[in-house]
Amino acid sequence: IIDGVSLSNIDELAKTHYPLCMRHLHRLLRQEHHLKYDGKMQYGIFLYYLGLPYEDAMQLWREEFTKKIGVKLFNAKYQYLFKHQYGRVGRKYEYPSSTCQYIINYRLPMYQQTHGCPFKHWSPQKLRDTLEQDCHGQDIGDIEDLVREGKYQRACTKYLCKTKNIHEGKVATIDSPNGYVQISIKESS
Ligand code: SF4
Repeated sequence: IIDGVSLSNIDELAKTHYPLCMRHLHRLLRQEHHLKYDGKMQYGIFLYYLGLPYEDAMQLWREEFTKKIGVKLFNAKYQYLFKHQYGRVGRKYEYPSSTCQYIINYRLPMYQQTHGCPFKHWSPQKLRDTLEQDCHGQDIGDIEDLVREGKYQRACTKYLCKTKNIHEGKVATIDSPNGYVQISIKESS
């Protein structure tokens, strides 16, 4: 849980401190105004553990979805899921926070699905195009080597260190998207 997370600073947080998996989902939500079910689950539970208040989370989903569909349809079809993610309805269940291992080994994103781990699930070209936006040549090669070896969390950790100028020996291997944000904020302050 990060103190002070709200709808007013979520875009800045996403841009500056999110791991690639969640930055991708946040950007798609803002651009496409929709996420498929597994994307809604992956991002919604992340937001809960990030500390985004329930009202802000609901406003975020509602504002985006209703750019494409009516409020009535949103309320009837989607609202329940987001309430459920915050333990507000049904069995008032608290979902466990998602680990990288869970996301990496979860079912493959197919067709238009956008959940998953970029280091595991994206094509080499798509990953390279993204890495080129904020990493240098040799660092990109090193990250790609780790991906080829199936060391996805190590690749993500290297990406964090390279983009935040953190000495690699200083942080343990990333084990969850929420852990990534915490390290990113701590090491940037
Ligand atoms: Fe997200 Fe974990 Fe993959 Fe990093 S290793 S992109 S935090 S799922």
